[in-house]
Amino acid sequence: MDINKIGVIGAGQMGTGIAQVCALAGIEVALNDISEERINAGLAAIASNIGRQVERQQVVPSERDAALGRIKAAVDFDAFANCDLVIEAASENEELKRKIFSKLCASLKPETMLASNTSSISITRLASVTDRPERFIGIHFMNPVPRMQLVEVIRGIATENTTFEAAKALICRLGKTFTVSEDFPAFIVNRILLPMINEAIYTLYEGVGSVEAIDTAMRLGANHPMGPLQLADFIGLDTVLSVMQVLHEGLADSKYRPCPLLVKYVEAGWLGRKTQRGFYDYRSGTPIPTR
Ligand code: NAD
Repeated sequence: MDINKIGVIGAGQMGTGIAQVCALAGIEVALNDISEERINAGLAAIASNIGRQVERQQVVPSERDAALGRIKAAVDFDAFANCDLVIEAASENEELKRKIFSKLCASLKPETMLASNTSSISITRLASVTDRPERFIGIHFMNPVPRMQLVEVIRGIATENTTFEAAKALICRLGKTFTVSEDFPAFIVNRILLPMINEAIYTLYEGVGSVEAIDTAMRLGANHPMGPLQLADFIGLDTVLSVMQVLHEGLADSKYRPCPLLVKYVEAGWLGRKTQRGFYDYRSGTPIPTR
């Protein structure tokens, strides 16, 4: 199954990253979000990110121009009519994703494949609201998409082999490496990583250490490239909370209970880097711990 054109739903940090790597690999992209403003902000972010790749001499200017020319705004799902694959990368909320997938199918040709970039939600459940669960798969890119090597592939119960093979071929074409995860809450990477981040937030909540002490401890003591609170801000605290809720509900084990301090930050709208404030305040340009 050749993939020449993809649709991307959600022009946030992940959707723009996916659009960018696909366009650089020669694939036409239609990028959708809830408003033209969001789509345009996404297109601007892609242009700036590829611009940085040119400065670092990872991409030549002609490749940049060709890639940017391949990405078009999709104000509605009708723009996906001739897509071979549509990847959903909207906010981590099952109700929202179900609504998107049930509305989307009417605009697609019968052979179009569907993928979700969800960090945690059941691929089988999302596939069940579509008219093509056999053509549905989880393709879980890591953040930031252009820099991270891994992509997790998750089959739903109905996913056919042709869909699985096409997803793996796409990932290889993007120059990335895949691992295959079973369809259980948060798959492999986030099943392991997010409880560690949640524990770091409990460590802060219980006063064991400050934001700075916790991040320094894990950077220098465990050789992690980023501290867990810095990483939480980078992922987005709304996404961190949603993944912990999916783990907690899906595995019914109290060890996955989201830390109340994480809930409080999300309720305050302090979602990390994307809102300029989370465990650090980024508004002055220099990250300042908020606790
Ligand atoms: P984000 O908040 O940066 O972007 C989400 C985008 O979805 C926003 O632009 C929002 O306007 C848009 N959106 C919301 N409802 C929509 C709708 N009905 N139709 C179209 N667009 C809609 O979030 P993100 O970090 O890009 O995460 C997106 C997805 O990728 C989530 O499922 C998340 O779990 C997953 N993911 C995130 C990371 C990470 O580190 N942030 C890593 C891997 C996967």
